[in-house]
Amino acid sequence: MTAAYNWQLGRDMDYRFEGGGAKRQFAAVFNINRCIACQTCTMACRSTWTFSPGQELMWWNNVETKPYGGYPRHWDVKTLELLEGANPGGQVWNADDRSEEAPYGRFEGKTIFEAAAPEERAVGYLPADEEWKAPNRFEDHGTGWSARGASLPEHEGWFFYLARICNHCTYPACLAACPRNAIYKRPEDGIVLIDQERCRGYRKCVEACPYKKAMYRPATGTSEKCIGCYPRVEGTDPLTDGRPMEARCMSACVGKIRMQGLVQVEADGTWAREPNHPLYFMVHEEQVALPLYPQFGTQPNIYYIPPRWVPRDYLRQMFGPGVDQALERYTRPSRRLLAVLQLFRASQQIIFSFDVEEGERVGEVEVGGEPYEIFNDTAVGFDAGGREIVRITVEEPLHERPLKVNSI
Ligand code: SF4
Ligand code: SF4
Repeated sequence: MTAAYNWQLGRDMDYRFEGGGAKRQFAAVFNINRCIACQTCTMACRSTWTFSPGQELMWWNNVETKPYGGYPRHWDVKTLELLEGANPGGQVWNADDRSEEAPYGRFEGKTIFEAAAPEERAVGYLPADEEWKAPNRFEDHGTGWSARGASLPEHEGWFFYLARICNHCTYPACLAACPRNAIYKRPEDGIVLIDQERCRGYRKCVEACPYKKAMYRPATGTSEKCIGCYPRVEGTDPLTDGRPMEARCMSACVGKIRMQGLVQVEADGTWAREPNHPLYFMVHEEQVALPLYPQFGTQPNIYYIPPRWVPRDYLRQMFGPGVDQALERYTRPSRRLLAVLQLFRASQQIIFSFDVEEGERVGEVEVGGEPYEIFNDTAVGFDAGGREIVRITVEEPLHERPLKVNSI
């Protein structure tokens, strides 16, 4: 084991390889306040990559209803229990120790790598075949509803949809656990891939991945996982005409909850400062989007704007101590954040930087008992070469249909 810096934990941690490795990193922000569980993302992925024999139970993208749903069943509760068993009472954050380098404070507990026995690479478990079946079990099941009804900030009866793909982790547990060294992280975009020639189907990756996003395919005797739609990201898919495009699950998102991109990464695995990159802006400047179970220690790269109506304790366990600040900022967004939120799904091309052009004041509403002014600013997205690819205003333009619509 070597020491690797994990900025999400605010400290060094034990990891099998030197940290970082990628110059650019595949990353995304999912705004789960907006997810409607239509599963369009799931089917976009399914119809592109996992429609063949042996992939029947393989959903690289899935959307589960929390708190009861999970694919495979109870994946997160099981991993949290393993960690708690390895370090009883010690899985805690020191949120007072916050700084620019450690925005969530310091995690004082043990990661899946640190809690592992000497003969293991990471704490994990192999789900039984049964647990991969019925991937959308508990869909729309909420906690008990109260006769008194519900009001923000927290509802007494609640559920929410958690859309999930492989996190293309900075410190992948699947990669660390593979005895064949069949898993690698691409330096150009941080996408984590399984070499199908080298894989012998030992399923150590399935066991070690805390998110359970490496999956075994019996028809080939190998493990498979999300490949980040790398031909689209590279711009080498024939349909993309040389332009870096977002993955299929992102592009297809009906609820417009997803924005994917490539961020620049320093040698130690931290993000290079890019204040005009929409993902950097949301994750590091506004800190409105948070990693999923950062305490696992893999430094996942899919970030979530947490749902406003869910009890904070539950959200803090899932997204760490940054939840309260993230929700405050999401509920009363700055002008710049409100503009950037309009860029979600405004383009299939990857946006590498943005600008905001100020517009006129168009309204005032009350948020949390305080007045909140709305301005019709314009968000502009640019590609890697600085060319404009999208322009969108905060206020949706109103189009009046002519009286005579068609010839009928
Ligand atoms: S989410 Fe799992 S499969 Fe994906 S890179 Fe991380 S550890 Fe590997
Ligand atoms: S397509 Fe978007 S809105 Fe629909 S389930 Fe997937 S993430 Fe949610």
